[in-house]
Amino acid sequence: MYRTHSNGELRLKHVGEEVTLAGWVQKTRDKGFMIWVDLRDRYGITQLIFDEERTPKEMVERAKTLGREFVIQIKGEVIERVSKNKNIPTGEVEILVKELTILNKSVIPPFTIEDETDGGDELRMKYRYLDIRRNPVKNNLIFRHKVAMETRKYLSDSGFIEVETPYLIKSTPEGARDFVVPSRMNEGQFYALPQSPQTFKQLLMVGGMDKYFQIVKCFRDEDLRADRQPEFTQIDCEMAFVEQEDILNTFEGLTRHLLKEINGVEVTKFPRMSYDEAIKKYGNDKPDIRFGMEFGELNEVAQHKDFGVFNNAELVVGIAVPGGNAYTRKEIDKLIEWVKRPQVGALGMVYARCNDDGTYKSSVDKFYTQDDLAKWAQVTGAKSGDLICVLSGNADKVRTQLSALRMELAERLGLRKSNEFAPLWVVDFPLLEWDEETERYHAMHHPFTSPKPEDMTLLDTDPGKVRANAYDLVLNGNEIGGGSIRIHDKATQALMLGHLGFTPEQAKEQFGFLMNAFEYGAPPHGGIAFGLDRLVAILGGQETIRDFIAFPKNNSGRDIMIDAPSKIDDQQLDELNLKLDLKKT
Ligand code: ASP
Repeated sequence: MYRTHSNGELRLKHVGEEVTLAGWVQKTRDKGFMIWVDLRDRYGITQLIFDEERTPKEMVERAKTLGREFVIQIKGEVIERVSKNKNIPTGEVEILVKELTILNKSVIPPFTIEDETDGGDELRMKYRYLDIRRNPVKNNLIFRHKVAMETRKYLSDSGFIEVETPYLIKSTPEGARDFVVPSRMNEGQFYALPQSPQTFKQLLMVGGMDKYFQIVKCFRDEDLRADRQPEFTQIDCEMAFVEQEDILNTFEGLTRHLLKEINGVEVTKFPRMSYDEAIKKYGNDKPDIRFGMEFGELNEVAQHKDFGVFNNAELVVGIAVPGGNAYTRKEIDKLIEWVKRPQVGALGMVYARCNDDGTYKSSVDKFYTQDDLAKWAQVTGAKSGDLICVLSGNADKVRTQLSALRMELAERLGLRKSNEFAPLWVVDFPLLEWDEETERYHAMHHPFTSPKPEDMTLLDTDPGKVRANAYDLVLNGNEIGGGSIRIHDKATQALMLGHLGFTPEQAKEQFGFLMNAFEYGAPPHGGIAFGLDRLVAILGGQETIRDFIAFPKNNSGRDIMIDAPSKIDDQQLDELNLKLDLKKT
């Protein structure tokens, strides 16, 4: 038997017991006549003591050879510690070692296996198995496990069946490029890895499964923005015979369950907001509503004066920064520099201070009277002591820029509290989105999303105005889930694909299997998918998903531990009947 107890288990009540423990050497302290060793495993740390008076000399000598991360097994007696360590649960006892076995040696690890490590990101990723020994990463993985288990429990208890769907499939458009896999047995042909199990879960509804879920890997070959992974995990769900309302209620239930079980937080309200309103009020379709700072549109009150910049703008829009009048001139200048950074891209920023005595002082006093500025304050909801920040220009761009400023300022003001949870359903998304580059419409969600029946007539006349039965669940400014009611008849699906630029032949070739299935009694259905990595990070009160993934990829999509992707040898290429002819870039 390798161990009788874990290293997190022993307490005063065990004093006098003979125990066997195993684990890694966290550190040793050698006082010459006495050696202490901290022994670590997943469950905690237990202190071992080798002491010249009570331990055989040979063993003390061997204990001196123990290095960091050696794997050892010991037998010994639990004794009460003289100087107790209140910081760890086992801190009242130690083990007087009577037998020591070195199970495996370790070379010196490239970084310290401590909560605060000296290892940089790349090094930690290269030796991820060592990183996982550290509490922060280990605890995140355990946390993720709990979220996954609670999800499975909730959904299974609600009648959902977990069904696996294949990874070697045909392209499912979710707005990214596919990862492809050559087929040896079907020369010259390729599988695509699923961007999501979208079509399969719809086929499961046609198959009568009624309520499906799956915690599943999805693959999208996108340029990796910070904190994106080429492979990520979804809680993927689909239900038959449902309307949007049924889905929102079901998944409010799941979210509420998770927040309660995982965070101990009871969230009662799941407000709903239309996409249009979210864009107008927050410049963003995933607004963080833990704080206010809503946009105030100032066209009416700020245009038609002598200020050309505003007069020529499509949109003039501002926010009130609570307490912002306390900023010095220098700090405001810095803020202006911040919005002008290429990442934000504003051309400039106008501001107005709201003084305590009810007067205003703006950067455009030449053009605006106190009365004008009072109207700005009214529209943006600014109170005395606040600062009004105003951007102007192309409406879409300006909203995005002001949204970035709003989030940045809220962060600086400590308004984005990690222990506060404010979910929000964003509904009524546009069905289609115009793409400047390809000069055609794309499905905003995916091509299987149902238009709102009342908007169907607009599909030919004003496609951009058609709303979809699509919804996103937003939590604290992050989209944690998104889904839609689907098209479930062949004619509408064909019509939709036509609007997306597929010829009937292309539609048949790519989605014939789905449209055929729709001819055999497809029930009305809809679903949603949650991004598990992000959800776990948010519930865990952290910003990045990477440390909730056991073996993540870096920003170039590489796993630097196993060194993938990598070349394959000629024989493998041969078997696949492929020849590389790489374009020089
Ligand atoms: N397949 C969709 C996605 O991955 C989710 C859904 O519509 O259920 O975003």
